[in-house]
Formats: sequence, structure tokens, C-alpha cells
Amino acid sequence: MCICSNPVRIIHSHPVSSYMNAFHKQFFFSLSRCSSLFTCGRAKANRTSMFGQQADRVMALGEWEEYWQRNEIGFHQPQVHKILKNNIDKVLNGRKGVRFFFPLCGKAVDMKWLADMGHSVVGVEISEKAIRQFFEENNMTYTEEPVPAIPGAKVYKNSEKNISLYQCDLYAFSSSIDGQFGAIWDRGSLVAINPADREKYAALIISLMAKDCRYLLETLLYNPDLYEGPPFFVPDEQLHSLFGSSCDIELLQSVDAMTDLQRQWGLDKFTQNAHLITPKSS
Ligand code: SAH
Repeated sequence: MCICSNPVRIIHSHPVSSYMNAFHKQFFFSLSRCSSLFTCGRAKANRTSMFGQQADRVMALGEWEEYWQRNEIGFHQPQVHKILKNNIDKVLNGRKGVRFFFPLCGKAVDMKWLADMGHSVVGVEISEKAIRQFFEENNMTYTEEPVPAIPGAKVYKNSEKNISLYQCDLYAFSSSIDGQFGAIWDRGSLVAINPADREKYAALIISLMAKDCRYLLETLLYNPDLYEGPPFFVPDEQLHSLFGSSCDIELLQSVDAMTDLQRQWGLDKFTQNAHLITPKSS
């Protein structure tokens, strides 16, 4: 079977457990299957692009907020993420009281897990509902205040646990707002931002890294011609062009993460990679 760009419209319907249920209900994507007996020149042309149909995908901030409003948040996991658990010693590297940054934090329970171990957490998330739910579902009180340097933004804090969550567009955040970080946990963030924004994203992340920062990053590998995302495909080669000039990049683990969900997305292979990225000077 090969995939070519002569479009047949297929409406995808997925169970509630889907990464983003409504997303798939609302949108179509163009996909055509042709038998391997036929030559499919346009498919070849498509494959010359490393990112397939994903290169120009754009998700507006308002769309993310709507998914939260409708509670269509299949990406949220009720348990601490395995990659973080498995690699926490490498991230901490013997340090205590580390400042963790969570880009696009959602209501990840990983933030509470780290705070309970005595680390501090700063997250950025556009959805106010996600931030309030994080504190409420974890039985934490919180204060809220405006962030004068970012018009319209608010920061929600639990001072006892040292968790501060900024409600704003990630690209409005910078080290001038809350300093640099000793660790970053990037799950569902680089893979969720619009593919065209990756250079801007990498520059921001690098600017937030303290000299001793250890940045744990999850990426997902699959054939982007078969599924439009999010989560998006981020090839290892691109990591090197994004971070390689100023950072060392180590592949910590690579696991087959294929489940029924990915089969429903139409994928034939789905790999989860964990990388440790550290500034070259450290
Ligand atoms: N890291 C979280 C959430 C992943 S989904 C987890 O692992 O569960 C991506 C999240 O990023 C969503 O909650 C969405 O509301 C938020 N988001 C997307 N684009 C954003 C942006 N530009 N600035 C801030 N938040 C954003």
C-alpha cells in the first residue's frame, strides 16, 4: 500500500481516550490509498518532505482552550509519566531543590510529584481551566495575581509547594519573568506546538536553560504521511539542527509505544524517544 496526495476525504472518529478527541471529530484529512501495483508519483513527492502533511499544521491558542472547556483532553495522564520516573536520577544528577520548568504544562501530575520531592516548579499553560484543575485536583490552595510584564497574563501559585503556573502564551514567557531553570521536562510540548514554530521554541527553551540545566524531552516517531497530529512527529535529525549548536543531545531510551490508539490513528509504527539535552559548556 502506498499513500498519495490525490485526496479521499476520511472522517476520523476516535474514542474519548484519543489524544484530542474533538480535534479528530472536527477535521478531515486528505489521504488516499493506492495499491502497490500502481505507481504513485505524488506519493514520492510527498515523501521528499520529512514532515509530510504536518509541516503547515496550525493550532490556534483558542482551539486548545476550547478542548479544555469541552474536557477533551485525551493527552492528560493521571499517573506520573514513565519517562520522567525512569530518568529522574539522570535529570537530577545528584542535585536537590532543583527549579523545574514545564512548557505547556496542562495539569500534569508530574508537577506535584516533583514538588513533593522538594523541587520547585514553574509551568506555562494557556488554559486557565487546566491550571485551576491542577491545584484543585491535587487539593492545593492557590493565589492568583497578574503578571505586569505580560499583558493579560496571570500567575497562579502554591507557595508551600513552590509551584507557579503562568497562564499565558508560551512565547510571551522569558527568563526575565522568572529566571532560568536547572531542569526542564518537555512532554507533550515540542510535539504539540505548531511545527513551523520549532526554531522559535528551541531559542526560547535554550534561553531558559541555566548552565547546569538538564532538559528531558520526549519525542514521537511515526510516519507523518499517515496522521496529521498533534502530537506531531519530531525527527531526531531536527533535534540536532534545533539544539545541536549549543547543546549536547543524548538519546536515553527508545521504546515501541504502539497501542490501539495509534492503530486507530492509522499508524503502523509508533516510537517514543527520550532525550537528555544539556548546554555544551556544562
Ligand atoms: N504537558 C501536558 C499537556 C500537553 S498538551 C501533559 O503532558 O499533559 C499541550 C498543552 O499546551 C495544552 O494543555 C494546551 O492548552 C497548551 N498550549 C498549547 N499551545 C500553547 C501555547 N502557545 N502557550 C501556552 N500553552 C499552550
